[in-house]
Order: sequence, then structure tokens, then C-alpha cells
Amino acid sequence: AVVLAEARTLSVPPGARGEPHRCLFPIASDQEVLGVLEVETDQALPESGQRLVANMLRIIRNFQALLDYSERDNLTGLLNRKTFDESFLKLIARPAIEPDGRRAGAAGHWLAVIDIDHFKRVNDNFGHLIGDEVLLLLSRLMRSCFRADDRLYRFGGEEFVVLMRCHGEASAALALERLRAAVERYNFPQAGRITVSVGFTGVQPGDAPSAAFDRADKAVYHAKGHGRNQVCSHAELVSRGVLADESKVGDVELF
Ligand code: GH3
Ligand code: MG
Ligand code: MG
Repeated sequence: AVVLAEARTLSVPPGARGEPHRCLFPIASDQEVLGVLEVETDQALPESGQRLVANMLRIIRNFQALLDYSERDNLTGLLNRKTFDESFLKLIARPAIEPDGRRAGAAGHWLAVIDIDHFKRVNDNFGHLIGDEVLLLLSRLMRSCFRADDRLYRFGGEEFVVLMRCHGEASAALALERLRAAVERYNFPQAGRITVSVGFTGVQPGDAPSAAFDRADKAVYHAKGHGRNQVCSHAELVSRGVLADESKVGDVELF
């Protein structure tokens, strides 16, 4: 309890029946003590040994902080593109749980690409700092619109990606529509009204991260060409014959 509360090393002498010496080290983050490392030795651990263990723990902690930092985008704190492929593959490796088949996605997972409309104008009219502020505020709106376990990425520039678990296409569309409407309603300081175009697709069994991204991106492209400020489903565009179904040619080697 002392180690946890005060974050200091504690040396515990052995009890009566030939027990080992124990030394307790706090395992701490910047904010709190997360756990205790217990080292058992035949002889009492000398001060130099204690310092060695404490320093090693500090090195591990700094390394972990560095790893966390490298996974996140500096401006918005969202995940960055580098971590996308890995977490996408982990996600689809889980067994499928959706009962309603292909349109529900591999395990009911959906990938959406969100692109700000006419963002260049924001920069041109108000400057890059205001542009950056819009990106930051949009990332906050995204956090408030999606569930805590949905994964939110800034892919670069003014392009964002969401990996989310939803029961069926309709509820994925609903969540994204909620974001689109929230952005449209939001009064951005200086920049005023901003809108986003969104494209999304169900994650399929055996999907490659880049293939799923491309489908969602094609749907965004369609939204951009048809008035922006809207949510487009790739599957729906395919079923309407607006986009080609690339899964049909996927089995044939074209090159
Ligand atoms: P569209 O509706 O077709 O998406 O138009 P757009 O102007 O948003 O699209 P485009 O991709 O042509 O322009 C994106 C602009 O985003 C270009 C660049 O000036 C700006 N941008 C990219 N990254 C950043 C950033 O980190 N900060 C700021 N302030 N602007 C950025
Ligand atoms: Mg763009
Ligand atoms: Mg844009």
C-alpha cells in the first residue's frame, strides 16, 4: 500500500522461516502508480541494485511513452495512419458474430472515410492556424459522436478514418449521418460553417486494409461529385450500378 500510495521503493526484511528478502518497486506512469514489481533475493538488495532496477523501470516507462506518442497524431491526438493496417487486420481476424451475412461486414465492422469539404478555402480565407483549429474541433466532434471503442484516425491532412462495430449497414449509416449533421450544425469560431463528405463500406472476410479503404474512398469521391455534405455507402452505390463491384473481378489476376 505504501509503494502504491507514495510511489517509492520499499525494502522488506525476511520473516522468521528463511523467507527471501523482498524489494518492492512502484511501476508508475506520469499520473499514477499502476503496479508493483516485487524482487526476491537471498541477500538484501544493496542500494546500487535498487537503483539499477528503478532505472530499468524508468527506461521501460519512457520507451512505452514513446510508443504511445508515435501512434498518435500530434494535432488531434487521434490514432495516426501508421497503426491502421495492424489494427484493421487484428479486427477482422476475430470470428464473425453478425448473423445477417455479407452486408453486415466480416464481424459487423465498418470503415468510413471522412473528408472536409472545401478545406482549402478555410486555409485560404482564414490561414493555417484557423485551419488547424477546425481539424482539432472536428476530431472532438468525432469523439463525441462515436463509441469509446470505435477507432478514430487522422489519416493525414483533412482526411479522417473511423473503424467501427455496428449491427448492419443502416446503423453504420445512422452513426455517420449523426456526425455529418453535428458538423453541419457546429459553429466553428472564425471559420463558421463547415461540412464533411463521408464514404463507408462493410469490412469483408479476408479484406485487405487498402482494399476496404479504397472502397470507402470511392464513396467519398462520389459524395464530392454529388453536392458534398453527405454520407455515401459503397455497397449501395454498387447495387445502384453507380460504382463497379470490384469483389467480382477480385478472383481474376488482371496483371
Ligand atoms: P474537397 O471538398 O474536394 O475535399 O476540397 P478540399 O479543398 O478540402 O480538398 P483538397 O484535398 O484539394 O485540399 C485539402 C487542403 O487541406 C489542402 C491543404 O491546404 C489543407 N491541409 C492539409 N493538411 C493540413 C493541415 O495539417 N493543416 C491545415 N491547416 N491545412 C491542411
Ligand atoms: Mg482531402
Ligand atoms: Mg477535402
